[in-house]
Amino acid sequence: MNQTRIGKFIAECRKDKKLTQAQLAQKLNVTDRAISKWETGKCLPDSSIMLELCNELGISVNELLSGEKIKMDNYNEKLEQNLIEIIQQKELADKKLLTTEIIMGVITVIMYLALILFSSFINIDDLIRILIIIISTVMLFVVCLILVQIEQVAGYYECKKCGHKYVPEYKQVLFARHIGRTRYMKCPKCKGMSWQKKIITKL
Ligand SMILES: [Zn+2]
Repeated sequence: MNQTRIGKFIAECRKDKKLTQAQLAQKLNVTDRAISKWETGKCLPDSSIMLELCNELGISVNELLSGEKIKMDNYNEKLEQNLIEIIQQKELADKKLLTTEIIMGVITVIMYLALILFSSFINIDDLIRILIIIISTVMLFVVCLILVQIEQVAGYYECKKCGHKYVPEYKQVLFARHIGRTRYMKCPKCKGMSWQKKIITKL
């Protein structure tokens, strides 16, 4: 998907409908700046607003994502291309998230240990020492909660019993026993408990 091309296409369709950026913005309940960002290819419209935008412009989502009007005879081909690109983009974003998680985790643990060591060796008041330990422990805890959230939303878990691939709830991920990224959880489909692997792609 080419953002610049999609942007140009949005501008074209808007002009065809004889709308200014401000008028389109008003119809969609967004700012003029958002429209300008889409049209210059700086970002794509949110999925939540895509359908409404397409209705206003009189085009299909498939056409929007292709950045052009599509003839009926290659409509499906374009649709499949767009679908694959969307899946690829999600996979890439998920992989980046999981890498970020590892880096964040390592840095946090190192910082935590350094702070604990530092506070136990320097000559300070015991009260301050305890305060440093409490604050850094709370921070470690908060970072862990954020990391679990990344673990929850990036990619999917695969049930070992029925092969169902799904995104579990936060609570489930937080409290499940785990070895690395593999978690012992209850599958929402077959209700069986199993050690479920983290996978990036649902296909
Ligand atoms: Zn299952």
